[in-house]
Amino acid sequence: MDETPFGDADSLHEECGVFGIFRRTDASALVTLGLHALQHRGQEAAGIVSFDGAQFHIERHAGLIGDNFTKQAVLERLPGDCAIGHTRYSTTGGGGLRNVQPFFAELSAGGFAVAHNGNITNARTVQRDLQRRGSIFSSTSDTETILHLVATSGARRFVDKFIDAVSRLEGAFSLVGMSPKKMVGVRDPLGIRPLVLGDLEGSPILASETCALDIIGADFVRDIEPGEVVVVTEDGIESLFPFQARRPRFCIFEYVYFARPDSIVEGRNVYEIRKRIGAELARESGVEADLVVPVPDSGVPAAIGYAQAANLPFELGIIRNHYVGRTFIQPSDAIRHMGVKLKHNANREVLEGKRIVLVDDSIVRGTTSQKIVRMVREAGASEVHMRIASPPTRASCFYGVDTPEQSKLLASHMSVEEMAEFIHVDSLAFLTIDGLYRAAGEPERHHLQPQFCDACFTGDYPTSLTDHDANGDKDRELPLLGGIV
Ligand code: AMP
Repeated sequence: MDETPFGDADSLHEECGVFGIFRRTDASALVTLGLHALQHRGQEAAGIVSFDGAQFHIERHAGLIGDNFTKQAVLERLPGDCAIGHTRYSTTGGGGLRNVQPFFAELSAGGFAVAHNGNITNARTVQRDLQRRGSIFSSTSDTETILHLVATSGARRFVDKFIDAVSRLEGAFSLVGMSPKKMVGVRDPLGIRPLVLGDLEGSPILASETCALDIIGADFVRDIEPGEVVVVTEDGIESLFPFQARRPRFCIFEYVYFARPDSIVEGRNVYEIRKRIGAELARESGVEADLVVPVPDSGVPAAIGYAQAANLPFELGIIRNHYVGRTFIQPSDAIRHMGVKLKHNANREVLEGKRIVLVDDSIVRGTTSQKIVRMVREAGASEVHMRIASPPTRASCFYGVDTPEQSKLLASHMSVEEMAEFIHVDSLAFLTIDGLYRAAGEPERHHLQPQFCDACFTGDYPTSLTDHDANGDKDRELPLLGGIV
């Protein structure tokens, strides 16, 4: 399925999309379109900051881009030829407007706005340190920490302040920032979250995914490198590498679920990888069946790959209603269950009397699978074999993908057999971690130096988790300082 089902108070997550454009008439309208294409990365709130040569303008709203940013009046309130924007999903207490990005502050060096995708794993620790030295925070978001680090940096030039600030951060960060004369971007040294450089007839663009370039007819130039800082000015684009070089660990879950299938991420087409995932699944755990049926939309490409590799018919045995908004799905178990029914309906004609291979991208709590399987059985399927396009999700993500705390992950406390019983299927199989790496174009996972961040499947976290280690699991249940959002 698609919209996140994890909207409770597990922790503060930033599962987001960022977009910025430099020196282009109607910059904020283009940012609006870019964010619209990135809507899958976060649906809770969105914001745009523009600069008109003299002043910054800020507009931030709860809800979808299309509901809040298309009106001429809004765009007229965001004049200028430079703008950055952000679309956000967070789980903590509904978020509140003060946590909606981009963040903006008037600093001694001038105005500065920043939008962030990822999650900073030492934000709370840095924030406490800053607070002890007098910084005042107005939000509970880890991103505000960056503004304060820029503000308090002893460096003279703005770019050096920015580099100084991001050098203090641990975890995952793909950032886009804007000052009166510059647009800046950075990817953390492991490149956990994506960030690409685009070009619209000479105007540079920074965006989370290439699908945000396609929507406005911009060219894809290249991925921003892990650990790269880009500085965009009137004079062109400067590329700096201030961090110690490390072996990149891009998030493999972006390929499984998070990125849009039409995006090219780190040189790989997401749709092709998902189809290869399905083919690997068919090879690893094929089963006698009549039909392959995806759980729409997230299971579709893998189901196509499975059906092609297994030489079985692919059918839409479950139909998804695309008009169920996120807002409809309230953060309680009862309504989360109801949400699944509202979103999916079984196509009885297709399923009746058939042995079904049901394909979805992941099992998190198991709620979705349980409901979908019941629905498919009630529609008359004679056997249901569930195939999951990723390994069991065993560990929480600390890098910006919204997963619940570990104890709520089904695979953290159940074997595959127990999970099969829990979701009531005739058989259940997950893709192996090596199968996932093969689908992503690697021969296997290098166990000593993995090529991707796969912490949600392996518990192997590639950065220190300073806040978490300092405070134990409780950190995952509380917002950053402040508590009430
Ligand atoms: P669950 O019902 O908790 O097992 O959730 C599993 C479903 O959530 C799968 O159908 C996935 O498509 C979807 N999913 C997995 N990870 C995420 C995520 N980080 N955010 C939103 N949805 C997700």
